[in-house]
Order: sequence, then C-alpha cells, then structure tokens
Amino acid sequence: MVADGYSSPDVQGALQSIKKEAYWSALYRQVLSCQKCPFGRDRSASTQRVPGTGNRESPLMLVGEGPGFDEDRIGVPFTGISGALLTLALHKLGLTRQSIYITNVLKCRPANNRTPDLEEVQICSGFLAAELKLVKPRAILCLGKVAVRYFFPEVKSIKQIRGQWLEYGGIPVMPTYHPAYILRQTGADLALAKRQWWSDLVQAYRRAYQDDGLAENRSGNNSQEQ
Ligand code: SF4
Repeated sequence: MVADGYSSPDVQGALQSIKKEAYWSALYRQVLSCQKCPFGRDRSASTQRVPGTGNRESPLMLVGEGPGFDEDRIGVPFTGISGALLTLALHKLGLTRQSIYITNVLKCRPANNRTPDLEEVQICSGFLAAELKLVKPRAILCLGKVAVRYFFPEVKSIKQIRGQWLEYGGIPVMPTYHPAYILRQTGADLALAKRQWWSDLVQAYRRAYQDDGLAENRSGNNSQEQ
C-alpha cells in the first residue's frame, strides 16, 4: 500500500500546529475587533482590547479580572503596580511572565475600574473559553473574585475558598487573591494576606509543573514561605 504523505506523524504534527496557529489568529482578530458589550464601546474607559499574553503551551494559566488603567494603556494584562507584584512573585518561583500564559476574563476596561457583574462577564466569557481550549493548562491560578466566579458562579467570598483546589472541566483551579487586594492591606492583615497568597501560588506552581519534575529544578529553595 502506498503511504499517504499526509498521515506521517511529522506531517500530522505540522498540520496540527498550523491549525492551532490559525485558531489563535482568529481568536485575536475577534478580541481586537469585539464590540459585543458596552465596555468595549466606551472609548473614554477602554481605549483598546487587552488579550491574553505569554506562553501558549504553558502548563500554568493565570486568570485575572480585567484590564485596569495601566493595562488598558499598555494593552497587556497585569501591568502597573499589581502586575509588578505578580511579576516579582513569579520571579521568586523561577518563572517569567513570558514562560506562562496570563489573561483576564474581561478584555476591555470597565469605566472607573468598576467590578463587572456576572452577566457582564458572561458576554465576554467565550474568549477565555477558547483560550482554555487552546492552551490546555495543567493548572489554573485564579486571581480575585471576578475570575473565580467565571469558573464557579456560586462563590460569594474569595476568603472562604482561597487555597483550596477546585476543578473546572477536568483542570485543577487554585483560587487566590488578586495582587491589588494584597496591596490594599496593612499591618497584620498584610502579613497574613501575603503568606496566604504565596502559599496559593506555590501550590499552583507545583501542580502545574510537578509531572515533569521541573518544580524543584526551577525554584530551588525559592518556594519557601516569603
Ligand atoms: S469586554 Fe469582552 S465582550 Fe465586551 S467588548 Fe470587550 S472583548 Fe467584547
């Protein structure tokens, strides 16, 4: 029997990768031109869409709420002071922003950085669903209540569930605080929130990288409590 040139593993792999790239391009085009809800149409608050960024093959996906002022201005999730805190924590884990995939449930900034309600998040939810399907992370770190409620709408308070593994579509999800929450704390509350946040980050990191044994190699002793 003559071999079909398209069935060899190499060719199949290449076709899959081209197909995946095409899905990503289509997704980005849709996000960048989206007008589906008032957030994207309010040009005084939202000057551009802010799609996810980073490693599209990452075992770890970080999901936040939506762009704030800095993210809207720069066009990248988790920039500004909250982003700096997150970047520092990632660095302590031996990760860079580029090595993981970072995104938000909302791709446009709400006016006055107001917290979106569940119905508003739902309108944008298809984009994150597509990102999840394409990245297929081993673990998700959910930063803040809005992100957690995308996956688990019944959750009322992040404090009740942070640090506990949940599951969404077969993917382990670690809920934790948004870095902006940490930055708002003072005194003993700050010390506690930092400790809890770090513990959640380490858990998510280990879950994402444990299978290939990279967790220990990458972080060395860095995953000790801050
Ligand atoms: S927030 Fe989401 S649904 Fe609304 S316009 Fe922006 S990209 Fe579209």
